[in-house]
Amino acid sequence: MLCLFTSYYLLFLLLNALIPLSVNIEYSTLVISSEKNLLHAFLTSDDKWRMYTELDEITPELKKAIVFKEDKYFNYHPGVNPVAVLRAFYNNISTGKRTSGASTITMQVARMLEPKERTYRNKIKEIFRAFQLELKFSKAEILQLYLNLVPFGSNIEGVKSASVIYFGKLPDHLSLAEIATLSIVPNRPVSLRPGNNNEVLADERNKWLERYRKAKLFYPDFIDDALAEPLNPYRRDVPKLAPHLAYRLKAQYPGMNIIRSSLSSEIQQKTEKIVGEYSRRFYFQNIKNAIALVVENQSRRVIAYVGSADFFNNEDGGQVDGIRAVRSPGSTLKPLLYGIAFDKGLVTPKSIIADVPINFSGYEPENYDEKFHGNISIENALASSLNIPAVKLLYSIQPSTLIGKLSDAGFSQIRNEREHLGLSMILGGCGVTLEELTGLYCALANRGNYSDLGLRQNDSIPIAQKIISEESTFMITEILTQLKRPDLPLNWDNSLHTPKIAWKTGTSYGRRDAWSIGYNNRYTVGVWVGNFSGEGVPELSGAEIATPLLFQIFNAIDYDSEKEWFTMPEKLDLRYVCSHTGKIPGEFCEDLIIDYYIPGVSGMEVCDHLKKVLINPDSSLSYCTSCKPETGFITAYYPNLAPEIISYYELNQINYHKIPPHNPDCERLLSGKRPEITSPVHENEYFVNVNDSMEIMLSCNTANDVEKVYWYVDKKYLRTVNPNETTFFRPHEGPVEIGCSDDKGRNTSIIIYVRFTSF
Ligand SMILES: [Zn+2]
Ligand SMILES: [Zn+2]
Repeated sequence: MLCLFTSYYLLFLLLNALIPLSVNIEYSTLVISSEKNLLHAFLTSDDKWRMYTELDEITPELKKAIVFKEDKYFNYHPGVNPVAVLRAFYNNISTGKRTSGASTITMQVARMLEPKERTYRNKIKEIFRAFQLELKFSKAEILQLYLNLVPFGSNIEGVKSASVIYFGKLPDHLSLAEIATLSIVPNRPVSLRPGNNNEVLADERNKWLERYRKAKLFYPDFIDDALAEPLNPYRRDVPKLAPHLAYRLKAQYPGMNIIRSSLSSEIQQKTEKIVGEYSRRFYFQNIKNAIALVVENQSRRVIAYVGSADFFNNEDGGQVDGIRAVRSPGSTLKPLLYGIAFDKGLVTPKSIIADVPINFSGYEPENYDEKFHGNISIENALASSLNIPAVKLLYSIQPSTLIGKLSDAGFSQIRNEREHLGLSMILGGCGVTLEELTGLYCALANRGNYSDLGLRQNDSIPIAQKIISEESTFMITEILTQLKRPDLPLNWDNSLHTPKIAWKTGTSYGRRDAWSIGYNNRYTVGVWVGNFSGEGVPELSGAEIATPLLFQIFNAIDYDSEKEWFTMPEKLDLRYVCSHTGKIPGEFCEDLIIDYYIPGVSGMEVCDHLKKVLINPDSSLSYCTSCKPETGFITAYYPNLAPEIISYYELNQINYHKIPPHNPDCERLLSGKRPEITSPVHENEYFVNVNDSMEIMLSCNTANDVEKVYWYVDKKYLRTVNPNETTFFRPHEGPVEIGCSDDKGRNTSIIIYVRFTSF
């Protein structure tokens, strides 16, 4: 007997090696939320809903009910129940009918893996496969395979698909009544199809519940509750939330049955609804799309991902994932630029910068409102998103510095195009995605430390890298939190609905893109509104169109940001500065204000907003120390204005406190030589090729006492250089007036004629 058993066992091992078991099942890809709710499911390639049930989703109740109904000795037999086989064999012979009563759960799994005609030969093969399954898998795994494959009629396979489609829940949330219902459907999938005739289904369910009672499978109270439970299953649509992220993750992780995203199902659902409804309001203004990304700052994980206003709208490119599309950022990179300038010690929030026309080698930026604001503080320049101060700062730190920081912060298009980017990048002359921008602002919410955003719950987040200092970040956040600012949407009732956030808007050239990105301590939200076709619309602006959506999303996330606002870093300090310049107060300075500064980093220049001038009593002449008369002069103070401000005031005939002309009899003025322009040459004609970036050189000879030389083009200030320094500019076509003045007030000008050629 033992010998016989051993030889059978050896034969089995031989066959097991010759005809190995292969379990290769294609499941529906499921994308779930961080809390493990089902967000999105994909049909298999054979158009089935075959969802993978995880072991921990199989509750003891489900296990008990299925084993009781299908195979009472499941936990004890080796894949085949010999008693049942013999009984079935006897029945078949005595009645002449074939019954399948002998099938264990394991044998049913074998049949579902390799569906075959029911013949004795195939039955033997099935038994062989059952042994193989038992050898390879645990009982729990075999039951799991059974529950994953059992058909529920139509294209629904497995208990998870049935549970999601008929009850709208995952299997571990099923009640006993629902478990009993699902356990009986596979035997008669047509007549007992849920939703078809629920009364018949309920009768059948109750019969089984009574059998459970008889078998003492569950407590009687539990059975009573289940009997009383109304039964109303119907076929639901499978969830289709976060479609863009679902497709993205499915492509990124092919063959994965369940992808656990980082999304919060509640916030995803809310954000999708808000974006969809918001977008519909502007549809007839020809603004067709809107997208949003919500990130939890601490974990850097994306908790809502809305890639278009309506995924199922084919006409307006609903399936395009706007989160990853490359677009012009408008002004949204400015906060980083100002942060870098703070870190370089160039400016502080109250520093004054001149917002007047300026020419950077042929590039003359204009403000959004096409106005100039004269002297303005750095904080107002950023809050009002002025262009000229931003271009000036970028000119000071050099675009390569900004490009380096942005490359560190994951901006791939900018990194790839670094050779071709210039000053205009700070006004939108470069390509970014909403994902990149939201990642950058998330770094601002994380004290200046950048890290890539996570899309899956269990992905480890790389160690963060410092982009700007904590101190600069705090100053930027303070500026971007001000509520009295020009980019609040008109008609916005800010007392009621404005969430406490730091935010920045952006509108791209041609009004193609409206951006608004904001953050508080806990969340960063990025919003873009526009057309996927790239079509511009006159009404499109970051402040008017994107910001209200940003506010709505923040309000919906519902969190008390006042209580958990950012705290001032220890290394940041406060000091008094002169309100006229933002510099350390000098002897004349009386209007003092408080400003932030970073000790050891921020500039320590003393204010020079006034300059002492000797004048005659009727203020018609000024003197220097060498020409001042013995008596009859007085000391007066005049504003010490930047040359570009004076040039702007003069050109626009704006009144200002002007220093009287210098004493014409002054020996020094008479003996001192005026600057003499050596390049270009007066009244010469210059040919400039429009196809290359050719520039004209400016140089001059000056007197020995000169420390600074100011260049002007068509009376507009161009640049300040040292006396022997040459500089370049790109002219316009036609006559161009070039002026040069020294710091002693002596000046000269010439005219040249410029012609554009294309060869
Ligand atoms: Zn001052
Ligand atoms: Zn003099």
